[in-house]
Amino acid sequence: MISQKILNADLHCHSVVSDGTLTPEVLAERAKSNGVELWALTDHDEVGGLHRAAAAAKSQGLAYLTGAEISVTFAGETVHIVGLGFDPDDARMQQGLRNTRGGREHRAKEMSASLEKVGIKNAFEGALKFVSNPELISRTHFARFLVESGVCRETSEVFRKYLTEGKPGYVPHRWATLHDAVTWITNASGIAVIAHPGRYKFTPNEEYALFTEFKAHGGQGVEVITGSHTKQEYLKYAETAKEFSLVASRGSDFHSPDESYTDLGALPFLPGDLTPVWELLADRIQ
Ligand code: AMP
Ligand code: MN
Ligand code: MN
Ligand code: MN
Repeated sequence: MISQKILNADLHCHSVVSDGTLTPEVLAERAKSNGVELWALTDHDEVGGLHRAAAAAKSQGLAYLTGAEISVTFAGETVHIVGLGFDPDDARMQQGLRNTRGGREHRAKEMSASLEKVGIKNAFEGALKFVSNPELISRTHFARFLVESGVCRETSEVFRKYLTEGKPGYVPHRWATLHDAVTWITNASGIAVIAHPGRYKFTPNEEYALFTEFKAHGGQGVEVITGSHTKQEYLKYAETAKEFSLVASRGSDFHSPDESYTDLGALPFLPGDLTPVWELLADRIQ
């Protein structure tokens, strides 16, 4: 059943363990009731929710893969690499993710100081109220605080006005290297996938370098169908997958019923001429 090409797989979403608003248990239930047939939880830089996710998927009768979304700095931009089907107890991967999470609190305090300069007080403490995992304070938590305090109407407006490059609350940060992220995943028997390539502001040459280096490090997949892509980007990255001989992944990037446009499982199917990532992961599906 799972080797089929037409499958409602959702291999990208977030829980309260990173910057989602639902627990792993509620996400598993929502995935099942939305008709998802294969599910992975991919919290940012963190595998702490995976044992709960596996148990919840099992109790829902939902096929499941381990997952994580690793923050990487490449050519001065933040790139996200999704790992799927790895051993969640792998010590090198856990240490690598711990190091990647390490600078978040310091960055958050600098973001707060930066927001203070434009008259927004106590943003660190405000954002913390939305954080469940103290090692994983993210820009999303600041966005929720600025909506709650009436500075903006919705989180996307906060990102546009405050949390992106050149804006008052933005603090640059150096994440993991592409080499490290891909190596942690593949050494833990997983498949590395470039997340939502359409979101990066790369020149064609930089994007070519990303895919080339990713392949050279052992990366094998790319998200083609994601909640972050337009229809044109589905077509563009289907071609890129073929050009670089990468398998294709599909995931909503669901964070919250109040903030995400794409619900779990609510995506077009993968184009039929691509190899789905789950064909390489058949023996790791739980
Ligand atoms: P961080 O890892 O702390 O830099 O936060 C990155 C997260 O912010 C992403 O995973 C998204 O959930 C969220 N995000 C980034 N850009 C936007 C945006 N333009 N609108 C809404 N959420 C965004
Ligand atoms: Mn996120
Ligand atoms: Mn991402
Ligand atoms: Mn994501």
